[in-house]
This record gives sequence, structure tokens and C-alpha cells, in this order.
Amino acid sequence: MTSSRLPGFRDLSVEERRAATAEQVGVAAGGLDVLDPARGLSLDQADHMIENVVGVMGLPFGVATNFTINGRDVLVPMVTEEPSVVAAASNSARIARVRGGFFTSSSAPLMQAQIQVLDTVDPAGARVRLLEARDELIAAADEQDPALVAAGGGVHDLVVRLVESRAGTYVVAHLVVDVRDAMGANAVNTMAEALAQRAGEIAGGRTLLRILTNKADMRLARARAVFDAESLGGPEVVDDIVHAAALAESDPYRAATHNKGIMNGITAVVLATGNDTRAVEAGAHSHAVDHRGRYAALSHFEKDAEGHLSGVLELPMPVGLVGGATKVHPVARAAVEILSPRDARQLAEVVVAAGLAQNLAALRALATEGIQRGHMSLHARNVAVSAGATGDEIAKVVARLVQDRAVRADHAETVLAELRGTG
Ligand code: NAD
Repeated sequence: MTSSRLPGFRDLSVEERRAATAEQVGVAAGGLDVLDPARGLSLDQADHMIENVVGVMGLPFGVATNFTINGRDVLVPMVTEEPSVVAAASNSARIARVRGGFFTSSSAPLMQAQIQVLDTVDPAGARVRLLEARDELIAAADEQDPALVAAGGGVHDLVVRLVESRAGTYVVAHLVVDVRDAMGANAVNTMAEALAQRAGEIAGGRTLLRILTNKADMRLARARAVFDAESLGGPEVVDDIVHAAALAESDPYRAATHNKGIMNGITAVVLATGNDTRAVEAGAHSHAVDHRGRYAALSHFEKDAEGHLSGVLELPMPVGLVGGATKVHPVARAAVEILSPRDARQLAEVVVAAGLAQNLAALRALATEGIQRGHMSLHARNVAVSAGATGDEIAKVVARLVQDRAVRADHAETVLAELRGTG
């Protein structure tokens, strides 16, 4: 059984942390060696992934600790260039743990592809004729992907909308597909492509676009947690976090930054597992537009009956386990092994829990000491290393930069020169 409570984890060396992670998740010793940059994605593998490859870029891969999700402890892999993200997620997960951790759920993995038909003489009639042909169209689409159907997925429904535009009325058919453990873009695009001509004939028009929508609002994952009032810093902190969250629910300027904080956690896990970060981001931001057409916070925070902070987050989470880079990138495979999700839905739920944890950490920092203090001491590490500090010098330079409230490259160079007796 994995334990995500690993006291002293951050004080270990990188190799020791990797070994502890492997031990906790039950991977054989050396099973996570691909996390070593020298053994990660090879040039040859990269050359098969995208075009015009000239190299490979590394990014730090960390694991967030303390997460318990639906009663199961998990170590959450995160890839990010931003200091403080992994520490903040781990810290929030420790607070959530006091009241049972995160509880998650999700819809069926339904993705949709759109088929756009132009130049119909009778758009309303065309819509109904397409719906009459539902069974024929669904059968033809399912024929495209026997592997998906064998895995228990396939087309779930056909929906047809009329979209008024400045260039006329479009008949837009949506193929709703259960994509099981795939992200599903290729799967639904192939289906939409195959139906295009027939859909045009039935509608009496010309088919143009056939592509999935990233507004994956039928594929939602959600997480909730109760954050203990005392662990947060007391009842005033709970009240102030509720105020901070309420501003993000009502003000798009605040909501954009609030949601960016959520995506700090979400994108890091999505990237670690080799999933499509842009697809998840497009889905998230389109979901952040409320029923009044206003861009707003994706999460909600309330004070519960006992005075603790209740947080919820729900958004589209189109992540998969079978296709894309998840299967071919050795580091992504290691990330999936660390999480060992039962299926793509469980992966989606972990991602959303990480987003909620990240969101709470930012709100708590903003509502108490402000974000800059914690951020700056972590940022100071980067500044110290950029200035040339190595080994023991790093901690000494960081301490001085923070103490002097001058986290700047020029000051780091001065402090380093002093330490080395060359200043
Ligand atoms: P894929 O085609 O590589 O894999 C999905 C296929 O795996 C299914 O169609 C099915 O045939 C097979 N399969 C086997 N076992 C399965 C199971 N248990 N569950 C589901 N499918 C199973 O990948 P995909 O997920 O269809 O597409 C993902 C890729 O598409 C990503 O790389 C993404 O970046 C890319 N993409 C995204 C967009 C977009 O977001 N707008 C557009 C085009 C492509």
C-alpha cells in the first residue's frame, strides 16, 4: 500500500527521493531510472514524435506528497518549470488530509466531434433529417474504430444544432463518443471524417469542418475537500479565503489569475503523464464561462457548518492512457506507473484534485502573508544558481537574498563574491 506521507522527503537527495518513490508505489528498484535525464526521452524517440527535431528539452519532474484521494494514498507526478508548485500542492494535500483528503468523481468519458454543413436550403429540416438517420450514422462511425468498441466505448449519441453566424446558418452535427481510456481526439476525428459526405447528402448541403470540440463539457471530473480551519490558520483565514474566492467568482480580472493558479497544478500533472496540455487548457477556460456568458472562477469555496473550508472544483478533463505521447514517452510512462490509475477517469480525477490543492495554496497565501514571501524564497534559489552558486553556497546565498529582501541577480553576485572572499 502506497503511503504519500513521507516526512523528510524534501531533505533527501534526488536519487534517494526517486528510490523512496519507487518503493512506495511498488516499482522494482531502478524502475524509475528513466527519470534520469541521461536515460529519458532519446533523440531517436523524439524524432518520431514531432517534425524537424533538433534536440530534447528537460524540465524538472517532482512528486507531490500527502495526497489521499477517495481513501487511497497517491504520489502525484508533476512536471513544471515554476518553483513552489510542487511544495504548495503537497502542503494543501497535508491540510486536506486532516479531514479525509480529496473526494472525486467523474462523468463517462464522452468527447464530441463536430461536422459543419453549409449551404442547406432548409436548415431546420436538415437537422431533423440527420436525427432521423441517427442509427445509420452511428453504425457507420462505430465501424471506424473496432478497438474502441471492443474496449466498451463507441458512439453514444448524435446531437444536431443550428448555429447562426454572420455568414449564414450552419447545421452542426455532434457525434458524442465514449472514448474510454483515450484522450480521444484522433478517435473522434476519424469518425467525423468518415461521416462527412453522408451527413452532407442527408442535410442537402456541403460539409466543411469535421473535428473534435475541445469544449469537452460532457467529460467532467470533479474534486472536493474540506480544509481544516485550524490547520489553515484559524477562522479568520477561512473567512478571508471565502472572500478571495468570491472575488474570483464575480470579477474576470481576478478569475483569470485564480484559474491560472488551478492550472499550475493541472498542467503539471497533465504534462507529466504525456497528455495534451492545450486540450485541457482550452476545455478549462471554455468551461469557466458561466451561464450568463461571463468568465469566472472554476472552483468554489464555502465555510461549512463546522467552520471549516469546503472547496470544490469541476472541469472538463480529456486525458487518456492509451494514445498520444502517454504511450511513447518513457518518462510519461513512468509518471503513469507512479499513479497506477485504474482507468483514464481515475487519472482525470487525480488531475482535478491536484488543481484544487494548488488553488487552495494560492488562495491561502494571498489571504494571509501574500504570495510573494513564499514565492521569493523559492525564486531566490533560481537566482542564486544563475549567479553561479553551487553546493553549500546555494543555501547561504538564498538566506542572504531573502534576509536583505533583495532577490536580484546583481545582489546574488555580490553575496557570492563576499562568500568566496573575492568581493
Ligand atoms: P490514439 O488514436 O493514439 O488512441 C486511441 C485509440 O486507441 C482508439 O481510437 C482505439 O482504437 C484504441 N484503443 C485501444 N484500447 C483502448 C481503450 N481501452 N480505450 C480507448 N481506446 C482504446 O489517440 P487519441 O486519444 O484518439 O488522440 C489523442 C491525440 O490526439 C493526442 O496526442 C492529441 O494531442 C491529439 N490531437 C488533439 C486535437 C485537439 O485537441 N484539438 C486534435 C487532433 C489531435
